[in-house]
Amino acid sequence: VRPDGQTHVAVLDVGQGDSIFITGPRGQQILIDGGPDLSALTEIGRRMSFFDRSIDVLVLTHPDLDHVASFPAVLDRYRIGAVVMTGVDSATAPYREMLRILKEKQIPVMIADPQQDIDLGDGLLLDILWPPPVYAGVARDDANNTSVITRLTYGEDSILFTGDMEKEEEDEILASGEDLHADILKVEHHGSKTSTSTGFLLAVSPDLAVISAGRDNPFGHPHTQILDRLAHFGVPVRATAWEGTVEFVFDGLEDKRQE
Ligand SMILES: [Zn+2]
Repeated sequence: VRPDGQTHVAVLDVGQGDSIFITGPRGQQILIDGGPDLSALTEIGRRMSFFDRSIDVLVLTHPDLDHVASFPAVLDRYRIGAVVMTGVDSATAPYREMLRILKEKQIPVMIADPQQDIDLGDGLLLDILWPPPVYAGVARDDANNTSVITRLTYGEDSILFTGDMEKEEEDEILASGEDLHADILKVEHHGSKTSTSTGFLLAVSPDLAVISAGRDNPFGHPHTQILDRLAHFGVPVRATAWEGTVEFVFDGLEDKRQE
């Protein structure tokens, strides 16, 4: 995607996992999660100029395999401005490899902190909403509930990224009083029924939802209960499982948005 003054958000077709590639109005690039295998690398290669060897910001929502698999290869291939993650302890092999490369190449790491947002210029802002910086070096059985929650805003347009947050973290973020409103919601945990509660949907109040899940995945994602709930609130849904890569274009203006 050539810089065209708009922001392009591509929820990549990586099968059962998450990987989202964002290109800003001046070509700023953000990659949120790296999918379950190396397919994210192919997908971002398709969206970057052959000569472009750098990505501004990499976000790892949490170190489960379906979110981290391509990151060691991405860190090898591209110059990365900064990595945002919680630093939660995990034995996932590509995550251990990622930590090794971060150290070896001395890549700047930002431990996610709601006090520190990332201003990419030209009206493009990555707002870190949750969690507070309490997980660095801490082992958690359930990494899903440590997911880094961010909201990307470009002018008047916004999209909320939720990783694999489940009910526990959803309750925390709702209790924190954070403003969660966004035009588009990247539905939590591949559309699993363990989150996307009514209270959360009311707080986000999205015009549209996007689900990243593999075609015919063995988990039954997205769950019909979540699809019914979104339908009940009149929120149209798009899903990588149905249509492959889902892309949104933000012009940053109030009225006419995506499509
Ligand atoms: Zn996942």
